[in-house]
Amino acid sequence: MDKVREKILRGAIEKYGKEPQRDKAIEELSELIRALARCDDAENVAEEMADVRIMLDQLELIFGNAQKVARWEVKKLRRLDQRVHAADVIDGE
Ligand SMILES: [Mg+2]
Repeated sequence: MDKVREKILRGAIEKYGKEPQRDKAIEELSELIRALARCDDAENVAEEMADVRIMLDQLELIFGNAQKVARWEVKKLRRLDQRVHAADVIDGE
């Protein structure tokens, strides 16, 4: 995360508090779920995706688990890559 982004997000956590920002993350996730379920407004989907990305970054700062999240992400991407390539092999037969 770049320094400017981190400064803004740490400022929000400082101003509003960790627990309210965790609740805000839940709220933003539910807004994205609703936007995706409707999927009739591309601008709204983009807006809610941005909100969720911002809240995910705040959650990393709140929980101090950025490295753990990154390790999980690598693990999940490797597994996804294997599945995608396994599908290619089957599709290619
Ligand atoms: Mg929102």
